[in-house]
Amino acid sequence: MEFLQTLDTQIIVGVAVALVAIGAGAFYFYSSKKSKGCLDPENFKKFKLVKRKQLSHNVAKFTFELPAPTSVLGLPIGQHISCSGKDGQGEEVIKPYTPTTLDSDVGYFELVIKMYPQGRMSHHFREMRVGDYLAVKGPKGRFKYQPGQVRAFGMLAGGSGITPMFQVARAILENPKDRTKVHLIYANVTEEDILLKEELDGLATNYPDRFKVYYVLNQPPEVWHGGVGFISKEMIQNHCPAPAVDIKMLRCGPPPMNKAMAAHLDDLGYTSEMQFQF
Ligand SMILES: Cc1cc2nc3c(=O)[nH]c(=O)nc-3n(C[C@H](O)[C@H](O)[C@H](O)COP(=O)(O)OP(=O)(O)OC[C@H]3O[C@@H](n4cnc5c(N)ncnc54)[C@H](O)[C@@H]3O)c2cc1C
Repeated sequence: MEFLQTLDTQIIVGVAVALVAIGAGAFYFYSSKKSKGCLDPENFKKFKLVKRKQLSHNVAKFTFELPAPTSVLGLPIGQHISCSGKDGQGEEVIKPYTPTTLDSDVGYFELVIKMYPQGRMSHHFREMRVGDYLAVKGPKGRFKYQPGQVRAFGMLAGGSGITPMFQVARAILENPKDRTKVHLIYANVTEEDILLKEELDGLATNYPDRFKVYYVLNQPPEVWHGGVGFISKEMIQNHCPAPAVDIKMLRCGPPPMNKAMAAHLDDLGYTSEMQFQF
């Protein structure tokens, strides 16, 4: 009888150990698959366009499917991907783009693309239809971020230069352990050109202590509470953190704007270590 009881206990312990091992194996398999990411830095991989939403006359949001509903793209914060396509002449063109989604968005990634009438890659995106595939390589980029690396970010964005800023801001704000502050100045020509406005205003409402956005327009509407003209030194002084060793100013916009912003920042006393251009 005692022998049978010992045998019973041994069987129960054996089954429990086996179950724990199977569970741990499944967890390891699932998490390694999930965290591995779908990108290859050396080779282009194709992703299927599953949704295309027009946001304004020349801007659309493209949603691409990842291989499995649990897959993540695997893009470090603030880095970008290279996309390959064909221009109007059928020539290959490769350009950088920053997804507006994070690895917390599983099973898909999104690109918000501004399409210029004469733009070569713009042509490729204008022609893309649901069911088409986009060739993507990455991750790319020099930007590295660790929570707590700086006390505050100032961000100077123009037009589609908002996408890396939005990605970094989302990653910071949606991490409850990260207390970094984000001060964004976002410049455009008209109010209609402001990309991701609803999402940015949502971040400002949800994280009032950590995120501030100031919009600047060349051609403001009649009633307008933001800045007017180009981003000036005064605007940077009023809306961004002052120069300090524990802050960083990020820039991303058209080349003439980047040049003008670098000159403003130099004049205001931000050292090169305090500046980064995407
Ligand atoms: C790190 C990084 C991330 C980026 N992420 C995004 C993104 O998420 N979404 C996005 O839409 N773009 C993004 N861009 C810009 C993108 O890489 C291309 O430069 C843009 O799509 C234009 O490419 P194109 O081949 O269509 O135009 P091109 O053939 O290079 O240019 C043709 C003409 O288009 C006009 N044009 C091109 N770029 C601009 C501009 N920035 N401002 C004003 N006029 C311009 C000019 O008239 C130019 O002569 C990013 C750029 C960088 C460096």
